[in-house]
Amino acid sequence: MSKRKDSYYLLSLGCSKNTVDSQSMAALLDQAGMRGTDYAGRAEVLIVNTCGFIESARQESIDALRELAAHKRPDQYLIAAGCLSQRFGHDLPGQIPQLDGVIGTRRWMDIVDLVRRLRDRKHPEPIYHLPDEAITVGMDERGVSRVAVQGPSAYLKIADGCRRPCAFCAIPAIKGTAVSRPVERILAEARQLRDQGVKELILIAQDTTDYGHDLGVKDGLAALLEQLVAAVPDVPWIRIMYAYPGYVTDHLIETMASHRQIVPYLDMPLQHADHRTLLRMRRPANVDWVQRTVAKMRSTIPNLAIRTTFIVGYPGETDEEFDTLLNFVREMQFDRVGCFTYSFEPGTPSADQPGQVEPSVMEDRRDRLMSIQQPISLARNQALIGRTLDVLVEGHAEATDENDQPTGQMISLARSYRDAPEIDGYVLVEGELPAGEIVPVRVTGAMVYDLVATPDLMPHTVIAPGTILGPQP
Ligand code: SF4
Repeated sequence: MSKRKDSYYLLSLGCSKNTVDSQSMAALLDQAGMRGTDYAGRAEVLIVNTCGFIESARQESIDALRELAAHKRPDQYLIAAGCLSQRFGHDLPGQIPQLDGVIGTRRWMDIVDLVRRLRDRKHPEPIYHLPDEAITVGMDERGVSRVAVQGPSAYLKIADGCRRPCAFCAIPAIKGTAVSRPVERILAEARQLRDQGVKELILIAQDTTDYGHDLGVKDGLAALLEQLVAAVPDVPWIRIMYAYPGYVTDHLIETMASHRQIVPYLDMPLQHADHRTLLRMRRPANVDWVQRTVAKMRSTIPNLAIRTTFIVGYPGETDEEFDTLLNFVREMQFDRVGCFTYSFEPGTPSADQPGQVEPSVMEDRRDRLMSIQQPISLARNQALIGRTLDVLVEGHAEATDENDQPTGQMISLARSYRDAPEIDGYVLVEGELPAGEIVPVRVTGAMVYDLVATPDLMPHTVIAPGTILGPQP
């Protein structure tokens, strides 16, 4: 019997929601008596949890599958899971002939059954498991948690799927409509994570502000947050990702402002700022609402950090529309901005829209937008020099000098409330602070995305997210 029997290698690609699905699949495989390995060569089952969102992500998934296929042995099974499988599953063996199984993101919970069917298989044909009935999240989680722990932080999935009509996005077709998870499951998982010593809960969904719409709960996200802070008062940080413009309500703003645990950080992808472009994108086009709501949030929530993302080069985007976006970026002074070039998505309404923009024009627009945003990001970071704020220590590294040469000095890699993991900046703190702890540091330097700091051994007060000591900006 091969020593690889009953072991699996799982590669997770794409977004944090996929990371949660990967950790849930791993939990089911472990419950079935299998064990994970970090070495593909030592595994019986090779799984890639793919991303199918945009072309570049799809290519990354196909490359990863091909890499594993190239070294696959006869006693190994190669499985493509996730969004690429859900969207183009039946085409994948044409590109990766060594594929044994294809399972869609909507049925991640059937991974153990697929492995069993592969072992019992009497023919070389791939086995497809791509039922596309609506996700029955919450009713079919097989008792596993919907979380992804990453050091002192954890992603906590509160819903899956999406019911928004964004013309460029394939997610609703891949995942189905938005389904909220039962509150009691979310609270139970938050308590489990607290007991594991997690310091930061990161609430994720395709659209967190739509939470509860299918549970008959008005303002479901605000209501959920109030239950979370009551259930786990000792989890220092709760962070909200993926808010949908138009659904950041006064109740949500007040809830964020009145609970120190809820870090004053909001990720709200806007995608554009010209109402004509937004209308073609089938996105909320009331830019005045955005300006008023951002002003209200900034006046209600002290030291709020706002992250947003934009798409440039959307079909039909004129120079004038793009200039509107640039002026908006100058005016709004966001803390964090991600900017993506439009990705042609077959099967989405945008694919048929006239005025597809040249890739070189898209890239030029992305670069011009970021050249406006970077000085803004730097200035907002520089405003923190001399101030003390809490940071969550994630790890350590050896410092390097201006020539990138190691200096022998150890630094701590940390994040403040202004930094979501994997997408925002770091706080680089001199010395080796205790990993997994939240400690006060004094900011001594600023870069476009990162801060430099020193431990603040004598902070005036025990600071909480949103409390910045020293003269206010
Ligand atoms: S809100 Fe729009 S962009 Fe986001 S997942 Fe839903 S359809 Fe896609």
